[in-house]
Order: sequence, then C-alpha cells, then structure tokens
Amino acid sequence: MAQSEDLLKKLVSHAKEYGFVFPSSEIYDGLSATYDYGPFGVELKNNIKSYWYEAMTRLNENIVGLDSAIFMHPTTWKASGHVDAFNDPLIDNKDSKKRYRADVLIEDHIEKIKGKINKEVTKAQKRFGHSFDKKQFVSTNPRVLKYTDQIKGIESRLKEGLEANDLEAIRDLIIDLQIVDPVSGSRNWTDVRQFNLMFQTEMGAVSGEAGKVYLRPETAQGIFVNYLNVQKTTRHKLPFGIAQIGKAFRNEIIARQFIFRMREFEQMEMQFFVKPGSELEWYEHWKEKRMNWHKALGFGDEFYRFHDHLKPAHYANAATDIEFQFPMGFKELEGIHSRTDYDLNAHEEFSGRKLRYYDPVDEESYIPYVVETSIGLDRMFLAVLAASYHEEELEDGSSRVVLRIPPFLAPIKVAVLPLLRKDGLPEKAMEIMDRLKFDFNCHYEEKDSIGKRYRRMDALGTPYCITIDHESLEDNMVTIRDRDSMEQSRIAIGEIERILIEKTQLSKALRMI
Ligand code: ATP
Repeated sequence: MAQSEDLLKKLVSHAKEYGFVFPSSEIYDGLSATYDYGPFGVELKNNIKSYWYEAMTRLNENIVGLDSAIFMHPTTWKASGHVDAFNDPLIDNKDSKKRYRADVLIEDHIEKIKGKINKEVTKAQKRFGHSFDKKQFVSTNPRVLKYTDQIKGIESRLKEGLEANDLEAIRDLIIDLQIVDPVSGSRNWTDVRQFNLMFQTEMGAVSGEAGKVYLRPETAQGIFVNYLNVQKTTRHKLPFGIAQIGKAFRNEIIARQFIFRMREFEQMEMQFFVKPGSELEWYEHWKEKRMNWHKALGFGDEFYRFHDHLKPAHYANAATDIEFQFPMGFKELEGIHSRTDYDLNAHEEFSGRKLRYYDPVDEESYIPYVVETSIGLDRMFLAVLAASYHEEELEDGSSRVVLRIPPFLAPIKVAVLPLLRKDGLPEKAMEIMDRLKFDFNCHYEEKDSIGKRYRRMDALGTPYCITIDHESLEDNMVTIRDRDSMEQSRIAIGEIERILIEKTQLSKALRMI
C-alpha cells in the first residue's frame, strides 16, 4: 500500500462514490469532522462491530456485554476527572480569528524542520548514489545535526510546558519560534487557554447549572458505574470483563484526516476487572490478545506496532497504543491501559456508595483493578479501507480498483448477476437470491455489461459474483468469480451455499485469532 496523503484523498472519494461514507449534511456544505455511513459503509461497520464483540464475548466466557446511556449523571464526569482535566491548550490568532491547538502548532513546526532534514537527505542521496549511507549522513552532517538539536530543544520545552500545565511557557515557545498563523501569516496571538473537550447540553426543563449534562466523551464510565450490577446479575467472579460499543463525543479543536478524528465517533471498549496485584499480568495478556485480533485480518504484520507509553497518564501504571500504518503514517488505533483502581475509587468517593467486590476465595472485599482495551470503530473502519484498497493493472492492459476486504467483513458477500436482462435469466437469478438471502448479504444487479458489474463489485469489495447464463437454465450450473484471483469456475447451484459458508463466515475468522 502506498503511504501518502494522496491515498487518503483517494479513499475519501472512493468511500463517497461507492456509498461507504458521506460528509454529514452535505447539501448545507457539510458539518466539519462529522460523517454519515452509507449503505455499504454501515454493513462494513456492523461486520467490524460483530468481529470485535463476538471475539470479546463469545471467545471469553467471562466477558459480557453492556449498552449504557450516552447521558450520565454529571457528577460522573467530575469523578472521572473529565470536567477538570479533559482539556486541550488553545490559542487564537487575533487577525484571522482562527483557533488552533497550541501543541499542534508547535508539532507542525517540528514537522517542517523534519522536512528540511529530509530534503538534505534526498539531496545527498542523489549526490552519492549507491554509496550513500543514510545513518552515517544524519549522524554527522552539520546541517542535519543543527536541525536535530533544534527539534530536541523544542520537544523538551513543549513536554515541560504540557506536563506542568504552564500555558504561558507554551505561548512563549510559539512566540520564540516565530510561528505564524497558516491562514493569515500573522503572529498576533492571544494567550493560551485550556479548552474542555466535552459537549454540554441541558436536560429537561431545568435551566442553568442544575440541568447541565454532557455527551459522554468515552464509553468507559458507563461500564465503571455498572460493574457491580453486572457482576451481581451474571454471578461472575474476578477476573471478568464488560464489553461495550457506543457513541462518544469530543469537541476536538482540530478534527481532520477524514474519519480518523471526528467530533462524534464510536468506541469499542472492554474493561477487565482483576484482583489488585495481578493487573500487569492481565495487561500483558490483553496486549497480546488484541494484537492477535488485528493481525488475524491478514493485511500483514508490518501494518501494526506497539507504542508503549514511558510515562502513562496519572491513572495508569502501564499503557500502550496499537498503532496502525494509516495513509498519514503510523497512528494510534487502539489504546490498552492498566487503569489501576483510579476510576472505581473516584466513583466510590463522589457517590458515597461502596463499590467493593467481595472475593469469596480470599474472603475479603476490595476495589478491583482494571485493564482496559479501547478502540475507535471509525479508525478501525479507515484502517480496513486503507489496507484493502488496491489499484491494479490487469494483463489485458486495463486497470481496476479492488477492495480486498477480508470476506467475513465485506459489506456484500455475493452478487447475483443474470448475464442478460431477458430469456428467464433474471427470474433464475432471483430464485437463487431467495435461497441465499437468509444466510448472506446478497446483491442483485442486472444493469450494464457483466465486465462493468464485476468491476463495481470489486470496488465494493464483494468476494464472490455468481453469473447466471442460458446454460444455467439447462444444467443448473452457474459461474462463480473470485474477487482476488478473478478466476471463474462452473459450479452447481446447490454448491453455492457451501462455498460461501466456508469462505465468508465470521466463525472462521474467530477461529484464526
Ligand atoms: P488521540 O490521542 O488520537 O486523540 P486518545 O488517546 O485521546 O486518542 P482514547 O481516549 O484512548 O484516545 O480513546 C480510545 C480510542 O478511541 C482511540 O484509540 C481512537 O481509536 C478512538 N478515538 C479517540 N478520539 C477519537 C476521535 N476524535 N475520532 C475518532 N476516534 C477517536
């Protein structure tokens, strides 16, 4: 897969053209960082959800589901720390009136310096040809060394400023680096302020502070506040987990890169409750399990890597990201955190209710520790789309775009195509559809030449096409075409189901994890 902004643009237009993802309220010029999933997008999304949910709940007898409300009692967010600390540092440009994340302005500046280093490397590469030793060049060339030092200096000032929550120091850095507004070119900056990322609204007829509620910024808190309800009703002993898929909302200041960062998105989170002291073992367990889940999709191991946090957030004693090679480079796809008893302790304190688990083996009560796996459904969707997208030159000189989506995730499992729109072929095709539709998502299409219909199905990622021709009426055989190899073979109509079950069922994928 080519890694480039160019690929991202292609994905955005492919997703729109083929009914995967549309910009929200497009007739009003869209709403920034908000997207709608079209007919094929919603199928793919649902299949990703099933892959995650079934892997969690069916493959682990001690993990159960939950669907908690988006609205929660406002004190929840006091306890979780989101009211006080779920902030991004913001700065406005007084001339353009544009708002930026102060840390992102600085990071963009660092990227520019990295660009200068890359230019030096490319120049030298051209000059030295085959004998060029990149490692040696970047560790000795005076200009590159100067740039590298600059980057180190900026990074350490930024880190210090953020950690100490010293907003003035972050502004000073922007001024010292002479960063200009990308829109107006002006350096007329306001102070840096903290901006809370939670959306607020009012509930019912109560106005003001008393009626204030938030749209949840993560699904996890719905799990924490329910953990004893779940434990008591399922009678699970520790360790056990709760899995939930649901919408989350964050007023991201910079939302860009398509569905990678949105203001309304969906999370798939699992909180695993364990005995204190055993959490780091479980953390390692879930790191491995989650990576296997990703790799079982078969896109290639090189798409994934761990990024361990050297200094996890205050509530965690270990944390890592599973990063995926998106078109924009390696970025966080999933977070795995050992969250200690931080959240449950806080809820116990703020609610005044006991949130202890009675351990029947050790005959004692305690607050469990929590290991969390948290993945963005939309990011996962983008990952599948990006890794599946292929432009191919064919032997006959033509080309095609094909989405090599793993068959069990594909929106349509089989297209049923009568060769012609007459002679009883559509009727025969509908007969086959009527048999298959109970088990598989089928798609019927009779418009256009068969070649064009195959191309369209390739672009939608449909793993199999069945073509009904005149001979089919005589011998009850059809042509089955494989998306990836484009091979075609004749099979009996009675065979179709067996092949589809073998190749497209979720259960087969679950066995591979
Ligand atoms: P980032 O650093 O990219 O903002 P985060 O560390 O804040 O992400 P978490 O709070 O750990 O993210 O959320 C868990 C997962 O939810 C992330 O790994 C990501 O896949 C997804 N996610 C978070 N924010 C967004 C968003 N604005 N749009 C889409 N997905 C998101």
